[in-house]
Amino acid sequence: MKKIAFLLVMVFCAFAFVGCANSFDYKSDLTSYDIDIKYDDVAQTLTVSQTTDYINTTNNTLSCVKFHLYPNAFREGAKAKVVSTQNKDLAYPNGESYGQIDISEVLINEDTANFEIEGEDENIVSVSLSQQLYPDERVLIGFSYVVTLANINHRLGYGENAVNLCNFYPVACMYEDDDFVCDLYNSNGDPFYSAVADYDVSILYPNTYTLASTGNQVTQNFDLVKQTDITAKCVRDFGMVLSKNFEQKNAVCDDLTINYYYYNDEEKKKTVDLIEQVMSFFEQNIGEYPYSQISVVETNFVHGGMEYPNMVLISDDITDYSTYQLVIVHELLHQWWYGVVGNNQFDYGWIDEGLTEFCTVYFFEKHQEYGRNMNDMISSATQSYKTFAKVYESVLGSVDTSMNRPLNKFSTEPEYVYNTYVKGTLMFSTIYDLVGEKAFLKALKYYYNQNIYNIATPTILIKCFSHGSGKNLEGIFSSFLEGKVVIK
Ligand SMILES: [Zn+2]
Repeated sequence: MKKIAFLLVMVFCAFAFVGCANSFDYKSDLTSYDIDIKYDDVAQTLTVSQTTDYINTTNNTLSCVKFHLYPNAFREGAKAKVVSTQNKDLAYPNGESYGQIDISEVLINEDTANFEIEGEDENIVSVSLSQQLYPDERVLIGFSYVVTLANINHRLGYGENAVNLCNFYPVACMYEDDDFVCDLYNSNGDPFYSAVADYDVSILYPNTYTLASTGNQVTQNFDLVKQTDITAKCVRDFGMVLSKNFEQKNAVCDDLTINYYYYNDEEKKKTVDLIEQVMSFFEQNIGEYPYSQISVVETNFVHGGMEYPNMVLISDDITDYSTYQLVIVHELLHQWWYGVVGNNQFDYGWIDEGLTEFCTVYFFEKHQEYGRNMNDMISSATQSYKTFAKVYESVLGSVDTSMNRPLNKFSTEPEYVYNTYVKGTLMFSTIYDLVGEKAFLKALKYYYNQNIYNIATPTILIKCFSHGSGKNLEGIFSSFLEGKVVIK
């Protein structure tokens, strides 16, 4: 995600690219989701039938499987707020509005099953298995449910221009240290953590809408409705956006199709050129983008942007075109950092956000026609970080500058943003200066290739960067992560 209030710099213009390709082997034996949806734009509901073919990838024998119910974060009275107080007006232009998920039935291998709604915010469904599930075994878990959408400019909800349908379905919790990971929603950052999976999704919706989504679509038109069938292999999540206002501009770059959905962009050609340029630049400098399409989607969204596999949301609230471009670069980078190489975004937001921010700086350094460069962006980040630390110190008497904290341990949104995005940029910039460009790129590629489709932890990242660059970077990483380094 990108919070535009804290952007580092500004600029203009675009061109030049070199070539995109995709030929990776996807992971096999993944959990798969088969989801049939009917969208009602009057009631603002999704009526859904979902079958999850769940594989036990843990070393334990399971007697239940737990899934996140993110739509319940939008319930009235939810303890964990979906937006901070300062963003409330932007998120709810028509006053507070609520949504939720109501599960009517759960099936195990087609027989009715017992399930419990759990968690502080009814944020988890725990499905009891009729028989124990041994490692590597599979079970079919069926859900029938209705998602009610809030009128909110958020990841899930309808706004004036578009309907954002992300994090709408029960998604399997990760399993670590002999238990399911069931963290609550948080208004800070992206409170998600999931494994790559296969998706077959079918959605029926009024034919006045256009659909942007993760995966590859096939659409059939009927009298008043359309049905789009979508296949997405080996992706970390699945998202969609519907709008009556979408215009579309597409491009094909080798095997990659670029889909740009917008309703308010006078520079659409430049925007598509930028998307091509970013995708090919990072395919060269990080590694292959292993999917055949990328969609960039303008939509009503409270923050600057948000990443999903094969699809990024860019806020229509951004009025300055150079900021719009900056957010596009940031969100596209998440295809590598978050999408292909995953991390626990709740516990270690800096892993994907810090790397994404610094790679954004690197892109602009190598494309100075946009009017930005590394020196200015890093100076600006340093200054703004120092101001943040000074203000917090004078107001609160002290400032916690550690980065390695879960989202719910940051006391305010600025504290999260400065310690994750800004300090993350400064940390990777320090490492870049220390090892040099060549070794840094080697480290970046090594880290990517070692962790494709998997989960990187802080230890894995530090080891990969040390190995890839040929320098022991443990000390420097930990001095930043633990808040010991003084930013000068
Ligand atoms: Zn981000």
